[in-house]
Parts: sequence; C-alpha cells; structure tokens
Amino acid sequence: MTEQRSARLQQARRARRATSDPEELINAARAGDQRALARLVSLVEDESAALPAVMKVVAPMTGHAQIIGLTGSPGVGKSTVTAALVRCFRAQGLRVGVLAVDPSSPFSGGALLGDRIRMQDHATDDQVFIRSMASRGHLGGLSWATPQALRILDAAGFDVIMIETVGVGQAEVEIASLADSSLVVVAPGLGDSIQAAKAGILEIADVFIVNKSDRPGTQEVIRDLRTMLAMASYGPGEWKPPIIATTAPSGEGISDLAAAISKHGSWLADTGALGDRRRARAREEISAIALTELRQRMGDLPGESRLEELAARVAAGELDPYSAADELISG
Ligand code: GDP
Repeated sequence: MTEQRSARLQQARRARRATSDPEELINAARAGDQRALARLVSLVEDESAALPAVMKVVAPMTGHAQIIGLTGSPGVGKSTVTAALVRCFRAQGLRVGVLAVDPSSPFSGGALLGDRIRMQDHATDDQVFIRSMASRGHLGGLSWATPQALRILDAAGFDVIMIETVGVGQAEVEIASLADSSLVVVAPGLGDSIQAAKAGILEIADVFIVNKSDRPGTQEVIRDLRTMLAMASYGPGEWKPPIIATTAPSGEGISDLAAAISKHGSWLADTGALGDRRRARAREEISAIALTELRQRMGDLPGESRLEELAARVAAGELDPYSAADELISG
C-alpha cells in the first residue's frame, strides 16, 4: 500500500469511528476501509432504518462495477471457481467484491459459504472484500437485500462484484438474474445439467462452466450442453453462451473463463443490453421495496395482525374480499 493511500485510510478510519453518518461511512469504504464497508452491508442485513438515507448518498456513485452472478448445485465447485477467478482478476489489478448468498437458508447457511472462500486466500488483500449474506427474512429476504448490498459494493469502487448463490432453485435464478453476466457451474457425475434445465437456469446462463474437467464424464456434460444450446435458436448478433471447461483447484481453464466474461461484458456494452439489464434490475429493486412497503402498511408482515383480522371477517361473511383489500391498502 502506498504511503498516501495508507494515510487516507487512517484518516477514513478515524472519521468512521467518530460517526455513523452514511456519507462518511461510504467515503471510508471508498478509501478502502473494509470495516466501514462491512458495517454498510450489515445495515442491509439488519434492514436498518438508515438504509434509505444511505442509498440516497450511494446512488450517484454506482454503475461502474461489472456484476457477475455464479450459481450451481452444492459441490460443483462454485467457491473454488470463485477463488480462482478472484486471483485472476487481482492479477489484472482489479478490485473484487464477493457476496455469497444462500437463499434456501436465510438464517445461517450463507455464512459457511463465505467462510469457505475466505479460507482459501485473499484474507490479507485489502483490495478483495468477501462477505456472506444472511437475511433476517422479514422483508423480501435475499431478493430484497442482495441488490442493495450490490449497490453499496458498487459505490465503494469495486471493479468486479461476484454474487455466488447455492443451489439451482427459483430463488437462485432470481438472484443470479441480478447480475450483468450470469455464470452457471455444472460438473460431471452430478446429473445437474438436467437439474439446471428443470429450474430454468439455462435461460439465464451467459457462460457455462463445466468444472471438475479432470473427472470422467466431462465430455458427456459438454455434449449435453451443446445439444441443449443447439435446440435454442440464436439470431444474428445474439449472445450464444460459451461452454468453458475448468479444473478450478489447478486454475486450468480459468483464464479462458475470464476472457469469456470479459467478452460478454463487451457484448453487453456494445449492444445496449447492459442498459436493458440494469433497468430490469432497477425495476425489480423498486418493486421489491415498494411491495415491502405496501405489505408493511397492510400489516401483512410477521407479527402484525391486520390481515388476520380482515381474513377472519371475510371468512365469517361479515366483509367481502374487495372491501377488505381496499381497507388493507388504504391502511
Ligand atoms: P461449492 O459447494 O459449489 O462451492 O463447491 P466447492 O468449491 O466447495 O467444491 C466442492 C469440492 O470439490 C471441494 O472439495 C473442492 O476441492 C472440489 N473441487 C472443486 N473444483 C474441482 C475440480 O475442478 N476438480 C476436482 N477434482 N475437484 C474440485
């Protein structure tokens, strides 16, 4: 770290200790203060009342990072691929953020995943921020929290942000679809190309990774994916997902993967698809916040009983459901 940078960091740390002011926290995070950044992400996890103020400050600072989603069944090697990609991006001098989210177990699952990545290396590199996200689950869960955490990392100046999700269910598809580029990881011997097809994950894949390519069955998996891709029709100028074989622990195929991601990034920018994706992401984000707000007003969140009361009256024939809905919304 240069002396100048270190001085800036120390100054930022002093400022942060003195305040929980969003602007100062963000400035500290931008200067590389990881604890300030961790605190900001915690505000999202805690569904803090300070979030709207934070997001106001953050908004003009966003839009720089390339957001990469990575999903696939447990055990295919997502964490290992992520660690290898982080190494590759760092070698290119990029600042990298990693958010590990586990939508299927909002209370505890995410932590394990992040810890596993953290274990591998990068622990002492202040240009890499790795965080697993849990959600209190009151509001819209991780579908609500993830885009907000992404905004904070983006504003903090990361060049690349990876979101890693566990599993291949609907929630993973939703979270992966928040990304600019979605990577789907499969591996031989797990039968998960079929599983992936079922969950609709193939539609969101921009790049397929066949990891564990040192294992038997790799060629079959590649052939299956090729067959599936051949059935879909791609018009001229449309992106056709490449299939990249990797052996993550040795790093084999990782530079090809990074090149494919970069190529997809250029395609997004050149075709205007990037703007489309980011607007789609913003639409989801606004809807999630508005719906949460509405549900809160309606008393349709855990611990609130307005909906229960109305339901009892409708069930008893005292009230019709339209009038009950009006009452809820206007409440
Ligand atoms: P995740 O659950 O998808 O995040 O999978 P992990 O990254 O934790 O990997 C699961 C296991 O597979 C670990 O024991 C890894 O060391 C191993 N693994 C990851 N990538 C490869 C690979 O390319 N080849 C082989 N043989 N093993 C791998």
